[in-house]
Amino acid sequence: MVKIVFIKIFFRAILCYFCLFLISCSDAEEPKRKATPAKPKFTLVKTPQVNPDSVFYFVQKQVDFGPRTPNSMAHEKCADWMVEKLKSYNFKTIEQKGKQLAYDGKELAYRNIIGRFGLNKKKRIMLSAHWDTRPWADQDVERRDEPIDGANDAGSGVAVILEVARLLNQESPNIGVDVVLFDIEDYGKSNETFCYGSQIWSKDTRLDSLLPIYGINLDMVGDPNALFLYEGYSQEYARPVLDKVWTIAKHMGYSRYFKVIPDGQIIDDHYYVNQAGIPCIDIIHRDPQNGSFANSWHTHNDNMDNISAKTLKSVTDVVMQTIYRED
Ligand SMILES: [Zn+2]
Repeated sequence: MVKIVFIKIFFRAILCYFCLFLISCSDAEEPKRKATPAKPKFTLVKTPQVNPDSVFYFVQKQVDFGPRTPNSMAHEKCADWMVEKLKSYNFKTIEQKGKQLAYDGKELAYRNIIGRFGLNKKKRIMLSAHWDTRPWADQDVERRDEPIDGANDAGSGVAVILEVARLLNQESPNIGVDVVLFDIEDYGKSNETFCYGSQIWSKDTRLDSLLPIYGINLDMVGDPNALFLYEGYSQEYARPVLDKVWTIAKHMGYSRYFKVIPDGQIIDDHYYVNQAGIPCIDIIHRDPQNGSFANSWHTHNDNMDNISAKTLKSVTDVVMQTIYRED
């Protein structure tokens, strides 16, 4: 039996060799074609429609409270309003309150606001932004001791998140979404004295066992000429998320804002989200020419005149598409 098998294999081998010979001969006569692997088509999924007027209004509303500097009435009123908004969109809200000693010896009463949507969903992502505003215009040439409006820094990030929250409530995505609005980000002087809210939160996320699989932090996302680059810590901790979000932006026609340009590391709230074990990127306006931020950054020009509904809509579109693509 062994022999027969051997002969059969022998004949099969000869047959195969002959076939291969024929194929290679016929190949030789064909004009050479370059093999181009077919690219998988990128199709956008349907999401509830972002309303640019609505996102813009969410910035205006925050600015109308006045500068949201810690320990001020405007700060308190704005926090109440954000909590009410999230509740009205069916988010379960949790507040992390306390007092933090600032670098200048002042005690800052803080409120981190956590909102959770679709609590029955195991797969979750997180959106974050800081909501407090800088008490000084230290990058300005005049009235440097007076607080800024903070329309872009931090009104814009909060506005994008509230618009997403409004739309999630219209049509639930496949995944759950956690929102964290960080307080006392912008009261700092040196790296360690910024982002107190997210530093505190990173040690006690209040998200129990259902940790989000990744996070997107939004900071200064409303300037008419916004540019978002591949920030350093985002590259280090969450490169696949950066690639995912920037690819979506490209396919939505927003490469004007979202540039695949490597950038330096920035200590922003996303750094501490990463420390909490959630890979998180930072969508933050950068100026590659001067290595700084938006022109209006920490000046009195950070007002509604430098907020673009078009930019706000583009960023919200990208975040919405990212959420609704997940299954
Ligand atoms: Zn700032």
